[in-house]
Amino acid sequence: MTMMADSTMLSSVLVLDDVVKDMTTLRQLVSTPDEIFVAGVWKRGEGAAINSVNPATGEVFASLHGATVEDVELAVQGATKSLSASGWATWLPHERAIVLHRIASKIQENADLIAALQTLDTGKTLRETRALAMSAAGTFKFAAAAVETLEDAITPSRGENLTMSIYEPLGIVGAITPWNSPIASDAQKLAPALAAGNAVIVKPPVWAPWVSLLLARLCEEAGLPEGLLSVLPGPGRSVGDALARHPKVGKISFTGGTSTGRALGHVAAEKIMPITLELGGKSPTIIFADADIDQAIAGVLYGIFSSTGQSCIAGSRVFIHKSIYAEVVDRLVVATRALRVGPGSDPRTQVGPLVAHAHRDEVAAMVEAAREAGAQILCGGGAPHGEAMAAGAYYMPTIIAGVGNDALICQEEIFGPVAVVLPFDDESDLVAQANDTVFGLACGIWTADYRRALRTAKAIAAGTVWVNTYKQFSISTPFSGTKDSGLGTEKGREGIRSYMRQKSIYLDLSGTPLPWAKQ
Ligand code: NAD
Repeated sequence: MTMMADSTMLSSVLVLDDVVKDMTTLRQLVSTPDEIFVAGVWKRGEGAAINSVNPATGEVFASLHGATVEDVELAVQGATKSLSASGWATWLPHERAIVLHRIASKIQENADLIAALQTLDTGKTLRETRALAMSAAGTFKFAAAAVETLEDAITPSRGENLTMSIYEPLGIVGAITPWNSPIASDAQKLAPALAAGNAVIVKPPVWAPWVSLLLARLCEEAGLPEGLLSVLPGPGRSVGDALARHPKVGKISFTGGTSTGRALGHVAAEKIMPITLELGGKSPTIIFADADIDQAIAGVLYGIFSSTGQSCIAGSRVFIHKSIYAEVVDRLVVATRALRVGPGSDPRTQVGPLVAHAHRDEVAAMVEAAREAGAQILCGGGAPHGEAMAAGAYYMPTIIAGVGNDALICQEEIFGPVAVVLPFDDESDLVAQANDTVFGLACGIWTADYRRALRTAKAIAAGTVWVNTYKQFSISTPFSGTKDSGLGTEKGREGIRSYMRQKSIYLDLSGTPLPWAKQ
């Protein structure tokens, strides 16, 4: 048994408090098994070594040999065998639901370990990673409950037939995920795809592979049939690409950047394969003159600076009515300066480090370019001072002003703790500016006038609009992006359907030959 094989045992010795006090305990535990999960077999990968760095300290805490293109072939062969040997696709929905419930329980029992591992790997705060772990458990519970309630349809017949529309699983699904919220992204794909009766091959991100591997251990412990799941960390350009191109992979569910999503869209078009794309964003948040300013400021801060801005739905363009612009900007700057920046393991931290030093440097370069182009940096705009944080991938929460919506800093996704404030006057001009972006993922509106809220919510091109709140989610509510922010829907009952294909069946009830053939 490897150190991580019995994670239930681990969770009993490794409670969150211990992790917070001593990250080295966790580092020792995760660095032991250098193994990937290929069709039910744990083995050392043949690919290049992935050195996992704690972004709070810059230290390498674990090393993992990644998967190769050959592992994709093995995973597909294993999934094919497993589907046939286990009959997973033909298990009754309530039988699959039992396994999904057991996975949910395992995630719940190990939530502290998952949270700590994700904090170590991504820098996110423990408060956030624990919430993500619990939401992943909820996702499996929802999929278990929902799959039992999905119905096939008896459709109206035009003759003496019984006609029906039934749903079947697609077979083997490839799930390609980003680094910003690994456990939630994995669960959002794995739970509905398994519920629908598929096998799944997960390609986690190079920057955060550990949580996906831990989830595989939990699925194994929960009794998921062997071979039905593979987890293949490795480079997207080789392993992810091979997964998408494999002729036996029947769907790709992708979350990540728009350019990667577009490339995968081409692959899907060539194969005539369904694909779900959850991509980037540049979401507007709008504060009307009649808004409750306290509520708006709390919402804007949470919308852009939680997860250190590394969120597809980050509210990065803040439109403020010009009558309250000066007051709101002053208050936003004061509140932003007061945010507690620090390691994600410190329970007081609100803004952790970015996922990697290279990513921090990209964010810094984008802010520098805006400064050179004439933007005003109202706060932040650099790494924090002081030795304590010098080694980490930190960047101070930043507010930028003095640019128009057409500036690069307002058009490109930054994926960091950077907001731009923009004054507006006229409502229809505001809507035009808010929509003047290639993205269409989310929007926040602050106003006391619910007629205006609804009017604006309908006018904004976005998959999700929040009114007087932000970043609130329910697994039963569909999530999607429009324009360059994505294609297809995750979550909700439709999220499970997206891993199925429809089939129509006509059963003759007449018992007589068709008249056309009559001699
Ligand atoms: P990314 O596109 O660089 O990588 C995402 C995944 O795709 C990784 O696993 C990567 O290895 C893989 N990949 C890269 N190139 C590939 C290729 N050619 N073929 C197959 N797979 C490939 O994105 P990232 O930097 O990991 O994540 C950040 C991006 O994700 C941001 O743009 C963010 O907005 C987006 N995101 C979107 C959502 C959403 O739900 N809309 C949620 C989270 C993150």
